[in-house]
Amino acid sequence: MNEKLHTLIEKLAAEHRLTLAEYEYLIANRCPEAAELLAEHAVRARRAVYGNTVFIRGLIEISNICKNNCLYCGIRAANANCERYRLTPEEILECCDEGYDLGFRTFVLQGGEDGWFTDERVCALLRKIKAAHPDCAVTLSLGERSRESYRLLREAGADRYLLRHETADAAHYARLHPAELTLENRMRCLEDLKSLGYQVGCGFMVGSPGQTNAFIAKDLQLISDFEPAMCGIGPFIPHKDTPFAQETAGTLKLTCYLLSIVRLIRPNILLPSTTALGTIDPSGREKGIMAGANVVMPNLSPASVRKKYMLYNNKVSDGSESAQSKKTLEMRMSSIGYEVVTDRGDIKLF
Ligand code: SAH
Repeated sequence: MNEKLHTLIEKLAAEHRLTLAEYEYLIANRCPEAAELLAEHAVRARRAVYGNTVFIRGLIEISNICKNNCLYCGIRAANANCERYRLTPEEILECCDEGYDLGFRTFVLQGGEDGWFTDERVCALLRKIKAAHPDCAVTLSLGERSRESYRLLREAGADRYLLRHETADAAHYARLHPAELTLENRMRCLEDLKSLGYQVGCGFMVGSPGQTNAFIAKDLQLISDFEPAMCGIGPFIPHKDTPFAQETAGTLKLTCYLLSIVRLIRPNILLPSTTALGTIDPSGREKGIMAGANVVMPNLSPASVRKKYMLYNNKVSDGSESAQSKKTLEMRMSSIGYEVVTDRGDIKLF
């Protein structure tokens, strides 16, 4: 590894921030030795905050009905081959009950932008979940809504909200999304969520079509500036029924490299080793943890709908991706020296 790269990594580990040009250099000049050094620092930084614990979230995919047409996404409105479903509030509650018994203390309700889930309905559902499981955190990931809507959902009990910024470059954002969706509105949502007291997660795909090192540098700077509680980073994987069907997937290596960098930017961040990472590599989840991630989100959706929430080709939802296989996940994590804990897993603030 060259001298400059080494110096930049040490600077990032000590100061938790680089300039835009330095982030770009770090990405453009990556090599196995740099990845190793970054991971070493990242693991040390994570251990200082969270020890060897790994937080788990039960992911409930509540609906694959979506009004949007994000070019990368398999559940986009225009995909006529997608078999649509929507869970009922009762089914969602049953998932939470089952998850609770399995040891989950955070439930993530994720879905497409499905108009059926009005503020009234989501608020009623949140109150029921919170009444049944007052010791649990609820995370929502339901896309872009108004500030008033986010306010009502927060009031009804939502603790966290995941909304990836997808890319911090406005022109690149426009290449990945239809004209109605803008980076400006996405950032408005993220700012609203934060000011309403949510623990907020942003994030981006690695290797999305048109992504450059300069754009990734902007993503990293956005994470430095926005100071999210969580950050979702996974490889882009093409879906056969989208305009990006013929594009190539992002890589495990670059994703892990970026996980390490993000851990060093914010040592206390909640950083999932994502399903997409587990999809491109059979031990992707473990490799993500070894790069500095500290969260895994096994699938708690009813088995009958899992295959329908197909964001990208071959998305895994069985084996240790399944909440029911928590024991397997625990064994896999313990084999690399980590302990899965039964805990809400809030961000640790100093
Ligand atoms: N409608 C919600 C949930 C979207 S799915 C929302 O907008 O937040 C959650 C994440 O999956 C998205 O933010 C996106 O980054 C990721 N995703 C979608 N399609 C993907 C693909 N083809 N490959 C990898 N990740 C994808």
